[in-house]
Amino acid sequence: MDLRDSPAEAAFRTEARAWLEANLPEHWGTPKYPKPETPAEEVTFLRAWQRQLFEGGWAGLDWPREYGGRDVDVIQNLIWQEEYTRMRGPNQISMSVGTSLVGPTLMARGADWQKERFLAPILKGEEVWCQGFSEPNAGSDLASLKTRGVVEGDSIVVQGQKTWTSFAQQSDWCILVVRTDPDAARHKGLSFLLVDMKTPGITIRPLVEMTGHAWFNEVFFDDVRVPLENVVGEINGGWDIVITTLSVERGSSAQHARLGADLDLLIQAARDTPRGEGRASDDPAVRQKLAGFAAEMMVMKMSVYRNAWAIKEKGLPGPEGSTLKVLWSELDQRLKAAAIEILGPRALVSQGDPLAIDDGYWAYEALWSRAATIYAGTSEVQRNIIATRVLGLPR
Ligand SMILES: Cc1cc2nc3c(=O)[nH]c(=O)nc-3n(C[C@H](O)[C@H](O)[C@H](O)COP(=O)(O)OP(=O)(O)OC[C@H]3O[C@@H](n4cnc5c(N)ncnc54)[C@H](O)[C@@H]3O)c2cc1C
Repeated sequence: MDLRDSPAEAAFRTEARAWLEANLPEHWGTPKYPKPETPAEEVTFLRAWQRQLFEGGWAGLDWPREYGGRDVDVIQNLIWQEEYTRMRGPNQISMSVGTSLVGPTLMARGADWQKERFLAPILKGEEVWCQGFSEPNAGSDLASLKTRGVVEGDSIVVQGQKTWTSFAQQSDWCILVVRTDPDAARHKGLSFLLVDMKTPGITIRPLVEMTGHAWFNEVFFDDVRVPLENVVGEINGGWDIVITTLSVERGSSAQHARLGADLDLLIQAARDTPRGEGRASDDPAVRQKLAGFAAEMMVMKMSVYRNAWAIKEKGLPGPEGSTLKVLWSELDQRLKAAAIEILGPRALVSQGDPLAIDDGYWAYEALWSRAATIYAGTSEVQRNIIATRVLGLPR
């Protein structure tokens, strides 16, 4: 495997860099430009930014051209993400349920009318999606979910509760998994629905996270009627579709670039932070810690590229993606904890306070990074997958 860009890849990188330099929104980023205060403001901003990406030809890069994408390969997609994160482009997390989960799931498993109706508005930022999978008693063990769906005429009537549903209050649509046959084996009686969040009977209750933001929500369904045609795949065949969505969710992304950009920011902050007679970055223990992180970033980059090559060969992300999920999420937490240690108490001061370092970025990240080992499959669950499906160990 050659880690250097081929001439075509180098040209693509130059093109991506030039577009970003000309188009990155002025008022975004860290530490110079604070994030919008609330999730609602952030999603409004991101819808417009998604539109701009689409118009510039940089939305849905890995989507086929027939669906409005650019059909780039997995390596070019990584190059785009590397340039985007290096230049600290807006975090598209609330758009990514649509672009990274719903889009690929519908392209692989959706009916023709579903592709026609839903794919373009996702790419253009016109419709935001949320993921209604987890329930109070069904997270890692998703197949134990209890939200019911009863077929009545040409509808499925949904009754039950989802939780931890990110961006539900800002979303137009939801991918929802419900139990349509309670008598079938656990994985057999599920159906995968596309639900309009404006349908009567849906109540959304935001949950405040320890960052102070309320990104995720409880969502209650009280006799919510969903047209039968909004089922993806077969009724009671939803588990297959769930697996398609989860395999995309744990697939390849350029987390090494995001964390690398954070490390660069931390190195600069250590240079700017007074310590004794000099700066924090003069301390040999600090320097050694930062160098250790730089080496880990390099290992992660190689692992990301190795995984990308595997995807290129096999067409779909494999269980090796679990290794990367464990690697980046745990590195993320250690990096953010080290930042607090290196930069001292001012790193714990929040956005908006003149004492804050990097306008509260580290304070926010130290809290937010705790979630990384939980969402998209916990570290324990990822280790189970690595043990059984990568190493071939018994359950
Ligand atoms: C920030 C954030 C955003 C989220 N957004 C969404 C969303 O938009 N939509 C959505 O549907 N869900 C979302 N989730 C939920 C997420 O998918 C679940 O939290 C996750 O699947 C874990 O489920 P749980 O919280 O029920 O924990 P549990 O599954 O109850 O796990 C509790 C603990 O037991 C461990 N454990 C469980 N099973 C095993 C096992 N077999 N072996 C070893 N250890 C095990 C877990 O690792 C964990 O430490 C989000 C979560 C977070 C933190």
